[in-house]
Amino acid sequence: MTDSSHHPFTPPPELLDALSSARRPLLIAHISPDGDAIGSLTALGYLLYRMGKDPILACQDKAPATFNFLPFYDRIVQNVDSERPDLVISLDSSDPTRMGGIYEEERFGDLPLIVIDHHVTNVYFGDINWVDPQCVATDQMIYYLTKALNEPLDETLATALLTGIVTDTRGFRTYNVTPAVMHVTGELIDAGAPLAMITERTLDTRSMALITLWGRALDTVELADGVISAMNTLAMRKDLGGIIRAEGLVSFILSAQEAKIAAVFTEMPDGKVECSFRARRGYDVSQIALNLGGGGHPPAAGCTVEGEIHAVRRMVVEMLKEEAKKKK
Ligand code: AMP
Ligand code: MN
Ligand code: MN
Repeated sequence: MTDSSHHPFTPPPELLDALSSARRPLLIAHISPDGDAIGSLTALGYLLYRMGKDPILACQDKAPATFNFLPFYDRIVQNVDSERPDLVISLDSSDPTRMGGIYEEERFGDLPLIVIDHHVTNVYFGDINWVDPQCVATDQMIYYLTKALNEPLDETLATALLTGIVTDTRGFRTYNVTPAVMHVTGELIDAGAPLAMITERTLDTRSMALITLWGRALDTVELADGVISAMNTLAMRKDLGGIIRAEGLVSFILSAQEAKIAAVFTEMPDGKVECSFRARRGYDVSQIALNLGGGGHPPAAGCTVEGEIHAVRRMVVEMLKEEAKKKK
């Protein structure tokens, strides 16, 4: 195991060595992938391909069509049934369960595992762990990796790198956006990354089904003691063509002036409830998510809890109220 005692924003040397000697690395993005999961997967996949390697890009769940402008989008597989990899790289995942069914211990457990991630709740599950919670996105880390490998940016790489930065910061609105992030962004735009197109495609485009689901979920919104919450039930979405998550809703309800913390509870067919949390500056939802078996960042975290949705909502909202009470 390695720690992150090296200089921030610089990948550990053993990571660079492992990448350089790999021929067929298996790259894994987390389940229910977001822009940073797919952005870092395709950025690193494209970079390694350009370096003459033969990477496998994998994600248990199909990458949303929103991201079909990214390089190698069509090469992302949901099953690894091709030639055996010689290295495994986990991206944007804070614990091994986030890799889902892709990481089969019996098949890949003997291969070196590299973890590249920016979650403060990361449990350091790799042989080499490069975890930097100061980075706004795993994609920001892949940018530093590109520099450390002395590889040039090009338009394709820059586009994939900027996607995770844009989506994980919701268009540069989060408190972790520093001059360093804007500097990196400037360089990516310089290399040809289309900022406005990425923003429009990833943050400002929604299906009518999603807007309908938001409307139904908003009917359940409740605010008490600084915590605002809503439910997304199976019944609400049964006529909406397979849509599951009310993407973006949790950030939207946090915009209520009285709210310190927001939560959306999504009822799943397997009897579980997916919980999605957001917090205003000064409040931390990552530890509550971690305690409930999930993870995330202080202002944005999530977990999956077994139980009936109303009961889960009641129980979890009480926990969130404790955090919202903290005088900030
Ligand atoms: P979401 O609300 O799904 O957008 O997730 C917000 C943040 O929490 C992201 O950084 C996710 O990676 C993290 N997160 C969400 N669900 C989980 C989970 N079940 N386990 C670990 N991290 C999670
Ligand atoms: Mn992610
Ligand atoms: Mn991320």
